[in-house]
Amino acid sequence: MAAKIADVLIPLALDTAYSYAVPDGLALEEGDVVQVPLANREVAGVVWGLREGQGGNLKKVTGVIEAPNLSPKMRKFLDWIAWYTLAPKGSALAMGLKIPDPDRQEVARVGVRLAGALPKRMTPARQKVVEIAQDGIVRLKSELAHAAGVSNGVVDGLIDEGTLETVALLAEPVAETPDPAFGHTALSDGQKTAAEEIVAAMAEEHPPVILLEGVTGSGKTEVYFEAVAEAVRTGRQALILMPEIALTAQFLDRFAARFGVKPATWHSGVTGRRRERLYTAIAAGEVKVVAGARSALFLPYADLGLIIVDEEHETAYKQDDGVHYHARDMAVVRGKIENAPVVLASATPSIESRVNVERGRYRHVKLPERFGGRSMPQIRAVDLRKEAIPKGRWLSPTLVTAVEDTVGRGEQALLFLNRRGYAPLTLCRACAHRYECPNCSSWLVEHRFRRSLVCHHCGHVERTPHACIECGSVDSLVPCGPGVERIAEEAAALFPDKRCIVLSSDFPGGTERLRAELAAIAAGEFDIVIGTQLVAKGHNFPLMTLVGVLDADIGLTSGDPRAAERTFQMLQQVTGRAGRGEKPGRALVQTWQPDHPVIAALISGDAERFYEEETRVREMAGLPPFGRLASLIVSAAEREAAEAHARAMALVAEPPPGVTVLGPAEAPLALIRGRYRFRLLVKTEREVDLQAYLRGWMSRCPKIRGNTRVSIDVDPQSFL
Ligand code: ADP
Ligand code: ZN
Ligand code: ZN
Repeated sequence: MAAKIADVLIPLALDTAYSYAVPDGLALEEGDVVQVPLANREVAGVVWGLREGQGGNLKKVTGVIEAPNLSPKMRKFLDWIAWYTLAPKGSALAMGLKIPDPDRQEVARVGVRLAGALPKRMTPARQKVVEIAQDGIVRLKSELAHAAGVSNGVVDGLIDEGTLETVALLAEPVAETPDPAFGHTALSDGQKTAAEEIVAAMAEEHPPVILLEGVTGSGKTEVYFEAVAEAVRTGRQALILMPEIALTAQFLDRFAARFGVKPATWHSGVTGRRRERLYTAIAAGEVKVVAGARSALFLPYADLGLIIVDEEHETAYKQDDGVHYHARDMAVVRGKIENAPVVLASATPSIESRVNVERGRYRHVKLPERFGGRSMPQIRAVDLRKEAIPKGRWLSPTLVTAVEDTVGRGEQALLFLNRRGYAPLTLCRACAHRYECPNCSSWLVEHRFRRSLVCHHCGHVERTPHACIECGSVDSLVPCGPGVERIAEEAAALFPDKRCIVLSSDFPGGTERLRAELAAIAAGEFDIVIGTQLVAKGHNFPLMTLVGVLDADIGLTSGDPRAAERTFQMLQQVTGRAGRGEKPGRALVQTWQPDHPVIAALISGDAERFYEEETRVREMAGLPPFGRLASLIVSAAEREAAEAHARAMALVAEPPPGVTVLGPAEAPLALIRGRYRFRLLVKTEREVDLQAYLRGWMSRCPKIRGNTRVSIDVDPQSFL
């Protein structure tokens, strides 16, 4: 007899759904979260399909788990991601599924109130509790104990005695609904036109992807808030994706000024019960606006009506472990599946998005000017070939004078160097030993505040030794090159009475503290900010009128095909921090190669020139978006094993016309976390079905043995 069969996808690294028999009387729908036996355990999974079939030998679905059903659109999205990235389907599901922790449910808010019977044994403490509870009001246990000036234990004792009874309290709403009519920003004419264009596009039958391009400070945020308002007005949900750190208090306050309440936020810091409640409320359509890091793209929105990707060019959108996906690109896919418009906002769009505009796939909305007639900062190069800097110092005389002038006027200066720590390399003066990570092929970076040498790839930390570990010489270690901590030392020596702060991802105290410091900078509590890319982006510091770039050339020489683009974007962003307030700003860019196309375009303020040139270079080289790339990293604990497997893979690559397979070659980072790495690079013409080719190739590859691993990265952003 035919039985009902459920194909259940389990959120583990498995590529197929497993079949289970549906017991009689169990009503199941596709998308339901169920419990099923797997090996000797019970696990949660999602019903990916239901069909009739012979269920005789199959294990049975154990039961249904109370969790939001995953909609057909959500399942389609997860399937698509797995197809595109070649990740196992179960791994894609793991990003989109949260199973409420049943133990946590029990700690729902409970209140207590007087039940009647007095305790057999009365004490002064109990007496106080009873007196307060006599008003019959339901209070949290801790509130009652606090009001009576007793410990929670006294209240517990009275619950045990039956004097107090517990009452379930209604949960506070997980997020309040933004009010589109709360605050009104008077938009400039240009902003108004842009906002109207976007709002009109939202009503189209097939809403487009829109590239919202405008220089830093042109009001992109104000403009896309109007799109968010429209989504809320029409009762749909809006998602604002941001690079994690951009979720500052400043952004949340601006949102609140426009909508009356802060948006719900979703990032790695949202945990536990709150995370579960948000997930459920988003699935129920109760949360209208979510501002989140890339993982917010995988929430089960009931009715997603708009996706904003702020700072769309940001590399932070690429996830480089587990499922290798790019949140900007996947946002475009999700928008298509949900029939929702997608707005990509940036002052320095990716070449990919610009080319998509040229190809007519994305619409272009531009904000050419800074708001309020503010001018763009004046940018000048400091030619290090002509201007000598004393040995062991990194600020040129020109930059020092500029900082003096700026802080002397009560304004702020930013010294930008995209290098964490004190010095990127430490060596011994006596024996020339270089301090290297034992697990990776990379130098250890001195962090002087922590008195440690740190590996930035695996996190290995060792105390900075007093004597050289190689030759035993005392006080022989010399730092080579600068990191932000070293610049801070120089700034403190040059400007002893000024208030300096160093900001990098090493900042102690976590995100909350960092947000507080960013707010303090905005409020003018510091004169000189020394920072990495962490301070380069998104923030608005009204008093900042000078940006000094200490080494504009870092990054230009790496083998990364996006090196020029990245450097250009980073320098545009960081120089764009200057002059966002009332006063005009300027930037000084220290460089050894002022004629390099990236630096020249930056100084001239002519971004178009850079984009045209870079697009031409990519097209000639057949690099993305004119061709496609995938990077395959083969790693193993033994170098020979990794190399042998990579070679065996190359032997069966059999590239058809239009496909080139390069390698294997030792990866630039040949060793990470004790694993040796070899890389194969696949380069194809744009029309080639890269995924189909990769799947075919993988099916011909020899079986993976031992601890060898193959990781596939479609559209790689990192070439280490
Ligand atoms: P972008 O996102 O393009 O960098 P923002 O939206 O952050 O620009 O705007 C830059 C600054 O200008 C912010 O301080 C913002 O409050 C202000 N601003 C922009 N547009 C307006 C407007 N129409 N009215 C008032 N202030 C505005
Ligand atoms: Zn030595
Ligand atoms: Zn390391």
